[in-house]
Amino acid sequence: MPTYSYRCPDCSDFDLVRPMAEADAPARCPGCGRPSRRVFGAPALHSMDPRQRRAMDASERSADAPEVVSSVPGRARQAIPVTRDPRHARLPRP
Ligand SMILES: [Zn+2]
Repeated sequence: MPTYSYRCPDCSDFDLVRPMAEADAPARCPGCGRPSRRVFGAPALHSMDPRQRRAMDASERSADAPEVVSSVPGRARQAIPVTRDPRHARLPRP
């Protein structure tokens, strides 16, 4: 059975293991017994692959602050000369 979180208006949050059919029903607070509403928190990311989590974090950061790059990431390429004729070096360049 899954674990659901509930918030007591007087005490604090608590978790309950309940059947899915009863997830939205108010739960009694274990401290004071008042009916408590279900709350939704962040998903359990601790079991996610760290590489996938880093990719998701980078994607989330880039939504409002994209990284600016000046070159394609990876190995820098060296310019391969098209010709070895020294007269071509004196030709006008655009
Ligand atoms: Zn309570």
